[in-house]
Amino acid sequence: MTFEELNLNPAILKAVTACGYTSPTPIQAQSIPLVLSGTDLIATAQTGTGKTAAFVLPALERLSTPSTVPGKGPRVLVLTPTRELAGQVMDAARNYGRGIRVRCGSILGGMPYREQLRLLSAPVDIIVATPGRLLDHLERGSVRLDRLEMLILDEADRMLDMGFSEDMEKIVSRAPSNRQTLMFTATMEKSVLKLAETMLRDPQRVEL
Ligand code: AMP
Repeated sequence: MTFEELNLNPAILKAVTACGYTSPTPIQAQSIPLVLSGTDLIATAQTGTGKTAAFVLPALERLSTPSTVPGKGPRVLVLTPTRELAGQVMDAARNYGRGIRVRCGSILGGMPYREQLRLLSAPVDIIVATPGRLLDHLERGSVRLDRLEMLILDEADRMLDMGFSEDMEKIVSRAPSNRQTLMFTATMEKSVLKLAETMLRDPQRVEL
């Protein structure tokens, strides 16, 4: 399969090609068409397989058309267990999204509130966040999820291991029910499947 066959927006395709990627990795080839079709997805993938682009590219594709919902909350939310991983997702979004107009920002624990409040005071397309701090902002009312179209749980098993289960549930309860939800995990243990059952709707499964 080629990137051309994925029917991505030409500006996104151009950014991907500029990265020197010749063809999609297996997780990308399997996941991207499913995500573009609008279904929920649960995918097992280790770091290093290209999983970040597997969700960032279809998320950007969605953002390449305008939102029909007024407001300034994020249209795409990526929850990650760590600041480091959030940084990688942000880099990927900026890199692959440089040809389209997307505003992205991160909301991370242990970072100053001031900058985060400034970020949230203007319209934003993608937020990459660790669960605790995002929930904090939701409860303070500094961000709303009423424009959310896509929720992505990256390394869901690690978020569970780190005790973010309750925070994730509270966040999801504030998201529109007609959203698309994607879950990426390294392992398919019972607790992950249970989380998927509560957060995903008829998910397609991709296992590598
Ligand atoms: P990830 O598994 O998302 O952490 O990605 C691992 C590395 O693979 C990153 O450095 C990406 O830049 C790179 N990468 C992602 N997709 C591709 C691709 N289709 N071809 C070559 N490298 C890729």
